[in-house]
Amino acid sequence: MSRPDPIAAAHGMRVAGSTHVGSVRTHNEDSMVVDPKRGFYAVFDGMGGANAGDVASQLARDVVSDFIATRVGHPDPRALLDAALNAGCAAVHHAGLQVRERHGMGTTAVACLISDPRHAWVAHVGDSRAYLLRRGRLSQLTRDHTIVEELVIRGLLPPEEVERHPHKNVLSRNLGAQPFCRVDVLPIELEPGDRLLLCSDGLYGYAMPDAMQYILGSGDAPEHVAKDLVELALRGGGGDNVSTIVIELPAQASSTQVVRTTGAQAWWAKRQRFVAVCRERGLTRNPICRGLEPTEALELIASSVCQAIYHDLEKSTGVNVWTFAQNVAGGWFAQGGEWDAIRALFDVLGGSATAVVEEIRGGDPQLGFLLDVAVSRALVVAELALGGLLAEQLRAIDAEVIALHGKIASDPVIPLETSELEALEPARATPDPDTEQPSVRTPTPVPRTSGKFIEAQTLPFMRPERAVTNPGVSNELLDAIGHAIVLATARVSPRARLVHAVLSAVETVAADRAGNFASAVLAARELYGVRVVDDAGIMPLFDALDQARVAVAAAVQQLDATDATRAKVLAAVSAAHQRIVGATTGLVLEAIAPISERLREAQAQTAALRDQVAQAERRRADLERRFATNVDPSLPWGQRGNTNW
Ligand code: CA
Repeated sequence: MSRPDPIAAAHGMRVAGSTHVGSVRTHNEDSMVVDPKRGFYAVFDGMGGANAGDVASQLARDVVSDFIATRVGHPDPRALLDAALNAGCAAVHHAGLQVRERHGMGTTAVACLISDPRHAWVAHVGDSRAYLLRRGRLSQLTRDHTIVEELVIRGLLPPEEVERHPHKNVLSRNLGAQPFCRVDVLPIELEPGDRLLLCSDGLYGYAMPDAMQYILGSGDAPEHVAKDLVELALRGGGGDNVSTIVIELPAQASSTQVVRTTGAQAWWAKRQRFVAVCRERGLTRNPICRGLEPTEALELIASSVCQAIYHDLEKSTGVNVWTFAQNVAGGWFAQGGEWDAIRALFDVLGGSATAVVEEIRGGDPQLGFLLDVAVSRALVVAELALGGLLAEQLRAIDAEVIALHGKIASDPVIPLETSELEALEPARATPDPDTEQPSVRTPTPVPRTSGKFIEAQTLPFMRPERAVTNPGVSNELLDAIGHAIVLATARVSPRARLVHAVLSAVETVAADRAGNFASAVLAARELYGVRVVDDAGIMPLFDALDQARVAVAAAVQQLDATDATRAKVLAAVSAAHQRIVGATTGLVLEAIAPISERLREAQAQTAALRDQVAQAERRRADLERRFATNVDPSLPWGQRGNTNW
């Protein structure tokens, strides 16, 4: 039976233990101490016939833990542990002398005393072990007190022969064989995020070291890790009692602090190098820098972004990089600049930042690792800012197309080419029943619209004042929106529950007469729910948003309504959809902040951040593609592409 102890907190540490009789034995002769209040943890593995093993390990456990409990704050942890284990040894030895069947009983002991989050002492006798997991690597802290291990230490037995040696389990030391025992005590300098493992040989005898490292490094909570390690031994045969204690040091505050102070300074110290790398990578040749002296361009762009990253590192925010990206890209678009140039510029900046972090990593791997996470976050922020700008431009193009669509539809004196009609309303392009050929109409040029999308403001989700549907909008329009959503819902598989949820959110936001941004934020929060920022959480949501977009666009075409109404419905649902996407993006941004606070799970989180970068990249590519295939107002109507909004 697994008997996990509850999570315990001391110095912000998390601790859990688990023990199991195994698959073969009838008695559990292991005993444990999990005493977070005193920072004391121990595993005892008893031996001896006729249940003497249980007695030995339990007696040692009680004596040793009482010994520690009555001497809290002892100035010399090494001496304390030595004395405590010897007290246990004496007690077991004398108890063994009292009862004939228990004569010669004994127990191993591995104990850990943690006085503060920086210091631990590990004491052991016998072959129960202590391990340390640091930055994903597992190392064994104790050397077994077995005959064969002593032979190896003396150079009398090659290490590779230990496993095959007939006496590999014979202990050279234990608590109980003699009234006194020699105790090994090892001081450990702890680091934030370290995990310590105490275990009996029932674990490592039936589990591969790689598997133990994998489970201990999984980032799961200690109570799960302790149980999973026991499971691992059971799956490996479970031929012995197995006990595990997992102690996790807090990492959060100190790691964040490292990035905030040392990380920011290390980054700042490299600013000249960053500017030089940007130059090497062709920043000054970017069209955005045209007309500027190279030094001026580097100052305006490379130095500014370097400074923005520095300030964001210092304050653990993304505000400066966000503002920088928005200013540079917004200014460029305002001049009628092209997307490619912006893309290339941010590729140079991102690539240069990564190169500089790599250089820092070369000198200080830990700092480099933390900075990598922090700088990746800055790059994601920049991508999201660009994505917001691009989305807004797309929205403006769509608005223009929709207005044009409405104008064409409401102005019957402008005949259209058949192909144009088909493009606009496939449901209505009726072929001639006799010839099965489309009817022919006279082509006429379509008037150009005024106003440019670049005049639109940026970031839809930053501006709550623009309504999706106007206040006092007609019931007829609301009905049509509702009908479009019903049609769209019918197009989506009933099992795609997230898409259904998005569609219902789109309807809510589109039909919101107040038309402010709050309803989109609420809807996004509901959709986001308890999802975590990872592949399994965010990607399906963005996929669902995309699928809903396609379904609604198709459904609007199906609507049995006037063109003008359909144009209005399309405008309302597309604006609603974009707001939800915008608000969702905002939530992802919010979610990034706590991520940087949880650097303790840095490995997993780096993966999550990389996924976000990849996702932002995918979104960006998707937007870019649509941007490219969307309407070019300088072309005749039929060649302008679709209103894919
Ligand atoms: Ca054992």
